[in-house]
Amino acid sequence: MAATGTIQPGDLLLSVPRSAIFSHHELFQVSGPVELAPEHALLLAILVEARKGRESAWYEYLRLLPEQELILATWTMQDIELLQDTELIESAIAAKRKWKEVLSTFQQTVSTYAKDFTVDDIAWAWSIAASRSAYMEENAWKESEQSLRPPKANRSERGPGCTYDGSGVGVLIPLLDMFNHSCYPVSKAGYNPVSNTYDLIADAAYAAGEQVFIHYGPLSNRELVEHWGFTLRDNPHDSVRLSIFEITRAESTPLTDPDLISAAQILGLENPLSADASYAIGFARGKASFWDSVPWQLTTSLQLSALEARICDCEHVDLVETLANGVAVCGCVQKLCISQLEDALLDRHARLQTSVTKASTAAAPDHVKTAATNYLSCQDDIVQSILRTRTDSISESSGTG
Ligand SMILES: [Zn+2]
Repeated sequence: MAATGTIQPGDLLLSVPRSAIFSHHELFQVSGPVELAPEHALLLAILVEARKGRESAWYEYLRLLPEQELILATWTMQDIELLQDTELIESAIAAKRKWKEVLSTFQQTVSTYAKDFTVDDIAWAWSIAASRSAYMEENAWKESEQSLRPPKANRSERGPGCTYDGSGVGVLIPLLDMFNHSCYPVSKAGYNPVSNTYDLIADAAYAAGEQVFIHYGPLSNRELVEHWGFTLRDNPHDSVRLSIFEITRAESTPLTDPDLISAAQILGLENPLSADASYAIGFARGKASFWDSVPWQLTTSLQLSALEARICDCEHVDLVETLANGVAVCGCVQKLCISQLEDALLDRHARLQTSVTKASTAAAPDHVKTAATNYLSCQDDIVQSILRTRTDSISESSGTG
């Protein structure tokens, strides 16, 4: 979506009347109440309307929809694995399972309709519903359905397309779903109960010809690829998730020292420190230091293991006490933890670099190549800063030595 003229903050960008919001309600109007979960009802409504072709009141909108959205469920596992992101792999397995569930439930509960549509038809409608729908609060929606009064303002924080989780009702809002996402809030969207319209208001100024964005939320590349199949090159909300296992390379790190066990208990950390426990480390744009964005549970877990291993001769009792107060301990322990974390990040970056090379030579689809490149570019800054710090400390020590 591009601005055709100058836009000022506060300008109304889009106003979609209630009657133009596509929901399963349209289907019920013609065929009477159907006992369906809202997600299946929306799926069926999309299929039924699309099948009507020019007869459908939604024809002009439906014909603009892409042939297939690149939702995660449609990626091959091989392509997903190229992104070296354990959490994304788990999401993909869940998304594929979800799609199978939706398909079989759909085929069973609406068998009278389902026979009219191929699996490809249903997959298309599912990809549209999964990636383009916005959510209205269920109570507000029910109220509007029963009485056809305007629904209350949509207070949902979720952007369009978050997979249906049992709360709220998915609807398609024509034109709103044509805007691309920007990582910075650039517009406000929501249902306006006074005018009975879904409104989008500019938060920034735009010159004619500039692309106008909406903001789905402060989302990492993993979250973006999970729900919408795309990633951003320079995403300030991106993060990398590391497990204690990946950092310490130890299968498990049980604490045996009674003082450390009680310190872990005070801090609410597990013992043995779960090697599988993983933490998202943000990329710290605008923060004083990268380490500000490392969760304290992770740094403290690493410090506990370092103290258990007695890596230094500093006064053990004092260190444990300091740690139990949630404060970083002596320089030797801190230095070890930082270098473990940095090594893990450098390792991850190097593996991802290999993936990008592999993706470009292995004739992977373009969206996979782009995702791998964007995953990597978001990690570049932190890797460069780690390497710079290391070079500086080498030259400092050689300078003074
Ligand atoms: Zn020490």
